[in-house]
Amino acid sequence: MMPVLFLSHGAPTLPLDAGETGAAWRDLGDRLPRPSAILVISAHWESQIATISRAVRPDTIHDFSGFPEELYRLRYPAPGAPQMAEAAAELLQRSCIAVQLDDTHGLDHGAWVPLSIMYPQADIPVAQLSLQPQRDPAWHLAVGRALRPLREQGVLIVGSGAITHNLRAVMRHPQGEPVPDWVTEFRDWIASRIGAGDVDALCAYRALAPHAVQNHPSDEHLLPLFVAMGAASKLEDAHHMNAVTTFGILSMDAWIFDGVG
Ligand code: ZN
Repeated sequence: MMPVLFLSHGAPTLPLDAGETGAAWRDLGDRLPRPSAILVISAHWESQIATISRAVRPDTIHDFSGFPEELYRLRYPAPGAPQMAEAAAELLQRSCIAVQLDDTHGLDHGAWVPLSIMYPQADIPVAQLSLQPQRDPAWHLAVGRALRPLREQGVLIVGSGAITHNLRAVMRHPQGEPVPDWVTEFRDWIASRIGAGDVDALCAYRALAPHAVQNHPSDEHLLPLFVAMGAASKLEDAHHMNAVTTFGILSMDAWIFDGVG
């Protein structure tokens, strides 16, 4: 059965300066079994109803501003995955989760930034599934659970967000200063709860985790983790990689569930 991933996608500039995270993603792309298709749940696509992209040739969306010109010229021309999108929609329906298909939505940077490094040949079909920011972590966990059978068909489910994501703090953080404790304590708490398989605590992270709201003023960058955990069968064996921090604040942790150690 195909493993499940959660990736912290970092700043959009990562393709220009891939560093340690890029090396970890490349290695992951090499080590994972080759997927039949990829379904990305990105922090950068939100909608009221769960929506799955069915575009045959998804565009590369440059959904950011104020970055170097060359970033806007990058394209990730992977084919779409309309059949997998329809299969995913059917699975959600079967679990009584309202869903719609979208024939035009392209790939946002939460999807194409990591995929362009993991699978630079852009030859694996990709679709995206949106988040519902008005819903809670438990609901996103249920979405992931409903999608689990896709893994039997070789589909790689990728949650793409951030383990810590306070952009205001990124702006204020003096270059070269150490990573603040409120970032590492939160990251360590998430790691310990995943290691303990404590889904209930994770779902209540905003009340239970240290500095939760400071790390996630809004929680769209953590919600993809819940979809990934829902699609996984066992959290305790999850492999934690790339626990590095960029810009002093953004934890770049990746998690591999049910997969290569
Ligand atoms: Zn992001």
